Amino acid sequence: MTHHDFIIAGGGAAGLSLAYHLMLSPLRNRSILIIDKDDDDQLQRNWGFWTRQPTLFDDVAHHTWSQVEFVGDGGRQLMDLGDYHYTLMHGAHFYRFVLQQLAACPNVTFARGVIRNIEDGAETARVTVGEETHRGDWVFDSVVKPAELKGEITRHHLLHMHFKGWEIETPWLAFNPHAARLFDFRTPQRGAMRFFYLMPYSECHAFVEYTLFSANVLKQDEYEQALRDYVRSALGIRDYRVVSEENGVVPLTDYPFPRRAGSRVMTIGAKAGRIKPSTGYSFLRVQKDSAAIVQSLLCAGHPFGVPADVPFYRLCDSIMLDIMARHGEQIKPIFTALFKHNPIQRIFRFLDEATSPAENLALMASLPPRLFLQSLFRLKVLRRL
Ligand SMILES: Cc1cc2nc3c(=O)[nH]c(=O)nc-3n(C[C@H](O)[C@H](O)[C@H](O)COP(=O)(O)OP(=O)(O)OC[C@H]3O[C@@H](n4cnc5c(N)ncnc54)[C@H](O)[C@@H]3O)c2cc1C
Repeated sequence: MTHHDFIIAGGGAAGLSLAYHLMLSPLRNRSILIIDKDDDDQLQRNWGFWTRQPTLFDDVAHHTWSQVEFVGDGGRQLMDLGDYHYTLMHGAHFYRFVLQQLAACPNVTFARGVIRNIEDGAETARVTVGEETHRGDWVFDSVVKPAELKGEITRHHLLHMHFKGWEIETPWLAFNPHAARLFDFRTPQRGAMRFFYLMPYSECHAFVEYTLFSANVLKQDEYEQALRDYVRSALGIRDYRVVSEENGVVPLTDYPFPRRAGSRVMTIGAKAGRIKPSTGYSFLRVQKDSAAIVQSLLCAGHPFGVPADVPFYRLCDSIMLDIMARHGEQIKPIFTALFKHNPIQRIFRFLDEATSPAENLALMASLPPRLFLQSLFRLKVLRRL
């Protein structure tokens, strides 16, 4: 049996981010074991996020944009981001960068294998991989077991953000490389929130993705047909080549994931609810959480002193999930009003859970109240009956 200061169960976005934050901190000499079943599915992911602060990964960002576009009921809206920018990072670049940095640390080791069990204890916790057991002072768990999640979530909303994206090249100038199109709703909604996401890397090269927020995923050819229609009809492009593709399903839930999974075990990443329930974004939330865990270890001697989720924003997430689940086709007019009446910086601050009360009031006043009040009533009154 091996013994480590920190064991990280699952070397995905959250596990590697935490290891990297530890490596950059005064805890860098502690022993760290990262265990993963070696799934290279992660490499195909693209992570998009907005920020106005430098991040630890700016050197490996693929592209950044200073403007964003919204296409809804009222046509196309182009917005300057001011001191924000929108960044896209390839999963493969993130992994290569972090793994290279960690490989240079003699106190970081990697183990490959399927984690069978994590057992908490008073002084240490044990992680079983195949026939081997590892003991850690602290275990950080990002391994989601879908079956166990299904049972836990029943009293909460569970939707999926599911998508298929193509990186395409055109023989002539077709895109504006300065503006990332976050939402293009020019597609039949058919009872669910559906939109396209268009990230132009140059005038002839872009990433386009068909995204839905709904309970059930589609068949692969349905995503592909929608992508073909959008590229031809909305973008007016007939001649193009698909260079690569991305598929994904991200669970969106307002289930309050516990952070403390034992005296010595803490959840991280998706398993800790770090995916924002109403948007599916998580990359920067994971970075913030990793920094808070390191800070807690340094100041309190344990990792659990991270900030709790703010109830107001959790309620907003639940209301949005409720509307998406029951009235998915209404999201397009809601988002049209949101983007028409609010500066993009205010929307970003709200999604980052950093708005002032005055900004929250301004946002709420810009939205049609009926569905929000209905959902609030359902969540606050009917759920308690
Ligand atoms: C295709 C896709 C695109 C996304 N795009 C964005 C985006 O643009 N912006 C954004 O902010 N978020 C995005 N997300 C959401 C979010 O960033 C990811 O879900 C993120 O990867 C969550 O981090 P995680 O570490 O919790 O999970 P993961 O990154 O999935 O890591 C979990 C790790 O655990 C390992 N593992 C699982 N089971 C076991 C086991 N039994 N034993 C050993 N190892 C195991 C897996 O191999 C994996 O490496 C996207 C997600 C997907 C799927």
